[in-house]
Amino acid sequence: MDDCIFCKIIKGEIPCQKVYEDDKVFCFLDINPVNPGHTLVVPKTHSKQLLQMDDSDVAEVFQCAKKIAAAVVTGVGADGFNIGMNNEAAAGQAVWHAHVHVIPRFGNDGLRHWPGKPYQDNQAKEIQDRILKLL
Ligand code: AMP
Ligand code: ZN
Repeated sequence: MDDCIFCKIIKGEIPCQKVYEDDKVFCFLDINPVNPGHTLVVPKTHSKQLLQMDDSDVAEVFQCAKKIAAAVVTGVGADGFNIGMNNEAAAGQAVWHAHVHVIPRFGNDGLRHWPGKPYQDNQAKEIQDRILKLL
């Protein structure tokens, strides 16, 4: 993709703080980190989001995210980490090249998780049925 910022980073046309690269995956520090060490794990093959990725790339990216998480946690002395992926604008995706966030977390970092809201009446059963039929 000619106009994709992550494809340009992978090709070396835009600078980044690279931490890992192999034939399938490219990893670099997020320019605007949630916490220092926040790393993006990016498949070299361009696709928009998770559902457009080849299963083999999904496996490579998530295995790599595990390896990156271990290094990031030790490297920055974190207490834990989040793995996240924003898919489509409604989910907060801003860069249209699929990528996984590895976000180191600290017990005192003050971040809050997204809020939950309970199901009403039969809603959980109805939704379970809808999803079951699609799998
Ligand atoms: P999202 O698409 O919402 O999952 O997030 C895109 C992420 O890419 C954001 O966290 C940005 O800070 C990050 N980002 C955007 N441009 C760059 C860049 N040139 N180098 C490193 N990270 C970037
Ligand atoms: Zn791309």
